Amino acid sequence: MALITYLTRIQFEAGAVRLLGAELEALGASAPLIVTDRGIVAAGIIDQVIAASGLPASVAVFDGTPENPTEAAAHAGVEAYRAGGCDSVVAVGGGSAIDLAKAVALLVTHDGPLAQYAAILGGLDRITADKPPVIAVPTTAGTGSEVGRAALLTLEDGRKLGFISPHMIPSVAICDPELTTGLPAYLTAATGMDTVTHCIETYLSPRYNPVAEAIALDGLGRAVRALPRAVADGRDIAARTDMMMAALQGGLTFQKGLGAVHSMSHPLGGLKTVKLHHGTLNAVLLPAVLTFNRPEAGRKYEAIARVLGLEPNADLADALRRFAADLGLPATLSAMGVPRDVLPEMAEHAVRDHSTATNPRKAEVGDFLAMLEASY
Ligand SMILES: [Zn+2]
Repeated sequence: MALITYLTRIQFEAGAVRLLGAELEALGASAPLIVTDRGIVAAGIIDQVIAASGLPASVAVFDGTPENPTEAAAHAGVEAYRAGGCDSVVAVGGGSAIDLAKAVALLVTHDGPLAQYAAILGGLDRITADKPPVIAVPTTAGTGSEVGRAALLTLEDGRKLGFISPHMIPSVAICDPELTTGLPAYLTAATGMDTVTHCIETYLSPRYNPVAEAIALDGLGRAVRALPRAVADGRDIAARTDMMMAALQGGLTFQKGLGAVHSMSHPLGGLKTVKLHHGTLNAVLLPAVLTFNRPEAGRKYEAIARVLGLEPNADLADALRRFAADLGLPATLSAMGVPRDVLPEMAEHAVRDHSTATNPRKAEVGDFLAMLEASY
């Protein structure tokens, strides 16, 4: 009836990054490729990680992670891995760096083209355990990719696809809230709304997994209490710790499947003409999806309302819209710079996205277009 797995080894505490060297050693690895982005390097976080973990200053670093990871960047990462004589991959960054690191580890041992490993193209059976180990060190509290089975990548032909397999789960996640204290308020809000969306969508997914539902509701409550505090004061380590835990909880549970918010934010995130943040997109799309799903949600909306501290029959769409606005996030796709003429194409992509199967209410192309229009 259900496949329920919770297997990731997780080191979770302020200062946990000091354990990176020992965790690599336990995996039998001694020459990691650190996959990150230039912003993380410029913020001094890579120096901080190297110093705390005892890795040599000469450790191989690939800092070419784009805002949304791409097939080209994955190939460039593989070249850096080979050039450095590496035996493992350490992701240091947000969801993009972690997803890219997963793709680099995949392509080190799995021959191209990359597209054949995409979930919707039958990739699940082609991804094997024969891959170098990956350790994920998140520097945002949002994606949950550090414990997730998926990597999202934009292919050369423009499609943004999910690469999903139990073998894509990092061997170890090192969750150190101190690494998130320098994250600017806007990114704290945006990545935090990704967590909120993960907890809501995975809770609403119709798949049978009460374990995931309990964790998702706890994560949602934790996130809505902590996120405004983390946005107001980035150095509030208690709020940062709760956000990192909520992101982890969202990531642990979205094995149950996400929903229509992610069906639409995936193709929008793949647009080449405009760079759109995944979490901000989710915050903007969430109210329209909550309204659309209401007829199928039943008692689950009452449980969400309770967690949010609202009356049982409260308008969740309205509450989440106000919550995101109070965090300083934009309210519409037009405010984010999305051109209106892409909406029909985005609706076509959304209906084929891997998250669509677990939306609680069946959504056709016309439904997606209506939700995109309502969010515009
Ligand atoms: Zn997400």
